[in-house]
Amino acid sequence: MPIIHHHIAELRAALKPYRSQQRIALVPTMGNLHDGHLELVKLARQYADIVIVSIFVNPTQFGIGEDFDSYPRTLDDDVAKLATVNADYVFAPSVDEMYPVLPLPTSVHAGAITTQLCGQSRPSHFDGVGIVVSKLFNIVQPDVAIFGQKDYQQLAIIKQLVRDLSYPIDIIAAPIVRATDGLALSSRNQYLSDGERQAAPILHQELQYLAQQLIDSKNVEQDLETLIANSSKRITAVGFKIDYLEVKTAQLESIINNKAEKSQAQELIIVVAAWLGRARLLDNQLVTVY
Ligand code: AMP
Repeated sequence: MPIIHHHIAELRAALKPYRSQQRIALVPTMGNLHDGHLELVKLARQYADIVIVSIFVNPTQFGIGEDFDSYPRTLDDDVAKLATVNADYVFAPSVDEMYPVLPLPTSVHAGAITTQLCGQSRPSHFDGVGIVVSKLFNIVQPDVAIFGQKDYQQLAIIKQLVRDLSYPIDIIAAPIVRATDGLALSSRNQYLSDGERQAAPILHQELQYLAQQLIDSKNVEQDLETLIANSSKRITAVGFKIDYLEVKTAQLESIINNKAEKSQAQELIIVVAAWLGRARLLDNQLVTVY
């Protein structure tokens, strides 16, 4: 069974003996773990000797009226699941332990990348992610940290944070883990009714279809608006309310008037956020076009 620590000082003391000889990996989560999280832990094990999973529902990344209070908290089950993948430590701090005062007067703002996509409807979300991830990096001081590709914008922001603040941490991206019908696993999938759950895989199917259409297109810039409008119609037809559906470069820049050589392969990302009932679902699909 992993050893659980709720306090920063205790975790630091436990990790100190490992620091000189062994590599430490951190897997940050909000708990209510599913197979997607467990794949991150398995990947962490490939890069490090000691694996720490943090479980913290971070209040500063939730906006007013969002699901902070109702977000499922299942620490005992989570720890049992982490035992099956040999995690060494669980760090499960209280809100008071992480935030001596709230709001914190100090902030971590990653700039323009945080104001697009999810940042449009969740304006303070990535500042909350920035501060909590910075704190976790400083508390654990890992050699490597694992983040899921499912939260593509978050991953891009964290890579930028590591570059800009000179964290000596390798960031590893873990592929999206899906249910057999293609729906990306998420703790929020449990907000779906049976009917909504049946409709939900269309999101992934539509991203795959859109990816193929981008590959087939002779002029992506010109066709983009129509292709996105057609995909949006099919997604909304089953009951989704789309927050955004966009195609960007893999660096999350606009592909319109992009400076890349037309003759070169270009890596694009299709990103979507959409509400189905009470659940806001995220998905994305990388695609290479020529
Ligand atoms: P969360 O607990 O939702 O904050 O997620 C913790 C980490 O797990 C983040 O790095 C997520 O990107 C990652 N994650 C969540 N769901 C999946 C999934 N289906 N596949 C891969 N990674 C995931």
